[in-house]
Amino acid sequence: MARKLEGRLVVASHNPGKLREMRELLTPFNIEVVSAAELNLPEPDETGTTFAENAAIKAHAAAQATGLPAFADDSGLCVAALDCAPGIFSARWAGPEKDFRAAISRIERELVVRGAMSDADRRAHFVSALVVAWPDGHEELFEGRVYGTLVFPERGTNGFGYDPIFRPDGHETTFGEMTSEEKHGRLQGDGLSHRARAFKKLSQALLP
Ligand code: IMP
Repeated sequence: MARKLEGRLVVASHNPGKLREMRELLTPFNIEVVSAAELNLPEPDETGTTFAENAAIKAHAAAQATGLPAFADDSGLCVAALDCAPGIFSARWAGPEKDFRAAISRIERELVVRGAMSDADRRAHFVSALVVAWPDGHEELFEGRVYGTLVFPERGTNGFGYDPIFRPDGHETTFGEMTSEEKHGRLQGDGLSHRARAFKKLSQALLP
């Protein structure tokens, strides 16, 4: 049985979007969300080799520093023909300027170099790893995935990152062409996305 969440929760992220998402998710459950930025917590180096390890590093660091349960996430895009690159380096492929056009061109170039030209050769999935860690070292991990095909050129201007080249299975449109509600669902994570799927598992396991 997973441990239930109650009281205060630190969200170990300096990203305002993630904080807002957690606040919305936890509104019905009477859990007070405090951000790492409000508490002036340092951002630890993400030295793990998997999404889960990186999320755990951030969650444990925040739980140890505050004495409160802490939540952290890590996510990215795995391209099958590129041996799961960019993977945990998904944000880093866009460089300090967060140039996702450049990161997307790099993926397309590397697919061409490997002769991966057909839809069947261009399979990819997004992963979201969510970890809640407690000050006593206990942790709970939840992972969500969404599988699909990469399409070039980019389609749609919604979303962020690699959304315009990712067409989820069973859909004709890319994440970049979908509304936020289609991609993420409404509250409680009934959406298509890797993050919505991971959040759904988290809320089923940890919330009363
Ligand atoms: P992090 O989880 O904040 O480390 O970010 C991981 C990176 O993965 C983001 O900067 C994006 O490049 C990519 N990524 C994660 N989730 C998505 C998504 O839903 N759409 C598009 N790109 C994503």
